[in-house]
Amino acid sequence: MGDKTLIQWCDSTVNPVMGCAGCELLDVCYASEWHDGRLAGASPYYAPQFNVPTLFPGRTAKMAGEPDLRGRPRPKKPWLDGMPRMIFVSDMGDALSEGRYLHRDDLEGFPVGQGKTHFKPGDDKIMTGGVPFEFLEEEIMDMATSSRGRRHIWLWLTKRPERMAEFAEWRGKPWPPNVWPGTSITSTKTLWRLDALSEVGDASTRRFLSIEPLWEEISISGHFMLGNWWVIVGGESSQKARPAKPFDLAWARKLRDECRALEIPFFLKQLGGAPVENGEPYRLRLKPAHGGAWEEWPEDLRVREMPS
Ligand code: SF4
Repeated sequence: MGDKTLIQWCDSTVNPVMGCAGCELLDVCYASEWHDGRLAGASPYYAPQFNVPTLFPGRTAKMAGEPDLRGRPRPKKPWLDGMPRMIFVSDMGDALSEGRYLHRDDLEGFPVGQGKTHFKPGDDKIMTGGVPFEFLEEEIMDMATSSRGRRHIWLWLTKRPERMAEFAEWRGKPWPPNVWPGTSITSTKTLWRLDALSEVGDASTRRFLSIEPLWEEISISGHFMLGNWWVIVGGESSQKARPAKPFDLAWARKLRDECRALEIPFFLKQLGGAPVENGEPYRLRLKPAHGGAWEEWPEDLRVREMPS
C-alpha cells in the first residue's frame, strides 16, 4: 500500500490481495518480480509466493482514511489537479484471482504457516478457492462506499473482468459511482476484456482501460462501449533481465484519434523502454527504461486527459 506512487494516473495504491493466479504478462510482471525476486517470501506484507493470492484485510479501510486531495495541487502530476484522491486497487496482484492448485512444495521454506494447514497428510496438492466475493464486498466495496471512502475514487484494475462481472451480479445492488472498474489490454487477442468489462455496472459507471504494455497495433472502435470510459496507454518498460518490446508511436496516435472520435478521455502514460517512430528507435535521455518524461515526447502525444 502506498499513499504516494510514481504511477502517473493515480495518487495512491492499495492491495487488499497480494499475489495473483497469473496472466499473459507474468514474465514481465513487476508485482511477480517484487514478490519472488526481491522478497523471496520473507516479508509478512507480501504473499508467501506470488502465485498464492493472499488476503490482507483492513488495508482498504486504512487507505479510505487518507485525506481528500480535491483542491490540492499535485506539482508532479498536474493533470490530476481537481480530482479527488485517485486510488489504484490491486497493483501488486489481481484481487479477482480464481482458484488454482497449490502444491505442497510451493510453500516450502516459508516461515509462517500460510496455506500449509490446509494440507492433509499425504496431500501433494490442494485446490485453493478464488478470492471470495464476501471478502471483496467487505474489504473493498464497503470501505469505498463508507463516509470516508466516498471522498475518493477507487480504480479497481483486473485482468479478469468476467469474474468482476460475476461479482457485480452476485452483489445484487448498484455498482457505486466512485469505484471505477478497469481492465488491461495488451493486444488484439485480449480485447475481449473490454467487452467483458461492459458487463460491470450500468450506463452511469465510469470504466477504464489500461492499454499497457501495448504490444501491437489495436483498435477499440467497433466495440460496444456502454457508458463512460477512460483510456490509458503505454509502452512496455525495460527490465534488467529483459529489454522491452517495441512500442510504435503510430499505435498511440491511432488510439488517441479513436478516443477523440468516441469522446473518450485519452491518457498517454509512458512510451516504454523501446519506442519506435517511422521504423527507427525514438531516443530518450530521461527515464529511458519507462519513457515517462513527456517533455521528451513528440508534442502531439503529450496528452494526459482526465475524465471530468
Ligand atoms: S494479472 Fe497483473 S499481477 Fe497478475 S500476473 Fe498479470 S500483470 Fe501480474
